Amino acid sequence: MSKRQVAMVMDLNKCLGCQTCTVACKRLWTKREGMSHMYWNTVNTQPGTGTPHNWEQMGGGFKDGMAQKGHRPSVEEFGKAWDFNHKEVAFGGKPDAVLAPKGDNPGRGPNWDEDIGGGDYPNSHYFYLPRICNHCTHPACQEACPRKAISKREDNGIVLIDEDHCNGYRFCQEACPYKKIYYNELEEVSQKCIFCFPRIDEGVTTACSRQCPGRVRFVGYLDDPEGPIHKLVHQHKVALPLHAEYGTQPNVFYVPPLSPPRIDDEGNATDEARIPTEYLISLFGPRVPEVLEKIKHERERSQRGETSELMDLLISRKWLDMFGPFTKHPREVATSQIKFYKKPPGPGDARPAPQGGQDPLGRPGVVLKGERP
Ligand code: SF4
Ligand code: SF4
Ligand code: SF4
Repeated sequence: MSKRQVAMVMDLNKCLGCQTCTVACKRLWTKREGMSHMYWNTVNTQPGTGTPHNWEQMGGGFKDGMAQKGHRPSVEEFGKAWDFNHKEVAFGGKPDAVLAPKGDNPGRGPNWDEDIGGGDYPNSHYFYLPRICNHCTHPACQEACPRKAISKREDNGIVLIDEDHCNGYRFCQEACPYKKIYYNELEEVSQKCIFCFPRIDEGVTTACSRQCPGRVRFVGYLDDPEGPIHKLVHQHKVALPLHAEYGTQPNVFYVPPLSPPRIDDEGNATDEARIPTEYLISLFGPRVPEVLEKIKHERERSQRGETSELMDLLISRKWLDMFGPFTKHPREVATSQIKFYKKPPGPGDARPAPQGGQDPLGRPGVVLKGERP
C-alpha cells in the first residue's frame, strides 16, 4: 500500500455529458501514433452498455481475494473514432455536401448507447457516468502483469505502466474489471490514464478536472482532513465507489444522482425516484438510499437558509477549493520542471533500452523509443 492516496470524487448530479473532460485528456495525452482509439476518460449514458461495449460483463478483478478470469476487450468493443469527409465538405467544390462519417458502415463510435437511457415516457431517465482508471488500492492490472511493469507509486498511489518494461502481453487488460487499459499496437505496449501525474507532482490538478465546466470533479488526498475528498468520502460519507464488489478498492468515488419523481398512470408525481434506486445500488452499492436521503435533507436545510457544509462543498462556489493541494495554474509550471516516472530497476527487464530521451512535454511513456532525441 502506498503512503498516501490521491483520489477523485465525481458528483453525478452535475455532469452535463459534454465530454470536455474526454477531449482535455485526449488532447493532452493520447495524440501519439497508435492511440487514436484511446479515450482514457470516457463519459457514458446510464443505463447503457458503456465503453467498452458491455464492459460490466467482461470479468476480471477479485472475488473473495481470488483473481477472476477476464475478457480482453477488442478495439471494436472500445469503439473506433469515425473518419469524416472533412475534405469533401471543405474543399470538394460541392455546395450540397454534408458532414458524414466515411464508408457505408462506420461501426460504433467510442460512446455506446449515447443518451438512450432507460424507462418509458413519462418515466424515461438517464444520467452520465464519467470514468477514468480508478488507481485502485489493490490493482488487478498490477497483479496480473508478469513483467512487473505496472506499479503503484509510494508517494501518491497513482498506478502507472512503465512502457519500457511492458512487453504487450495484455494480461492487465483481462484483469482490470473496469476495462480501463488500452493496447497500442504500433508501440506494442499497454497504456492507460496516468492521473496526470506530471501535473499532480507540480501541484496542478488533472486536465479532466480542471477543464470540467460542470464542476463535477474533486481531486485531493484521501487522508487530508481539510481537503474535499476526505470530507466527501469519509466525513459526510456521500461519495461511493463504482462496483466495489470487483474487489480492487477503487479510488474514484461518485456522488449518486438524485432524480425527479416518477409519474403515475394519472399523471401525478409519486414519492418514488425516476432513476430506479435498485439500479443505482447495482452500481454504487447498498448505501445509495442513505446517501440520497442525506443529500435531500441537506438540500432542504440549505433551501431554508440554514448552513450546510455538504451543500457548500457540492455546489463548489470557489472552484479552486475542489482541488485540495493541486491548485496551481499549469502555466506556473515550466515544462522543463516536469519530472518523469521511471519504475525503479527490478528483475526481468530484458527489453532493450530505447533510443529516445525523456519526453519534455510530459506525455505518457517513460521514454519515447527514439521519437525524440
Ligand atoms: Fe488497474 Fe483497472 Fe484499477 Fe486502473 S481501474 S488501477 S487499470 S485495475
Ligand atoms: Fe486523462 Fe489525466 Fe483525467 Fe487520467 S486524470 S483521464 S490522464 S486527464
Ligand atoms: Fe462535461 Fe465535466 Fe461531465 Fe466531463 S465530467 S462530461 S467535463 S460535465
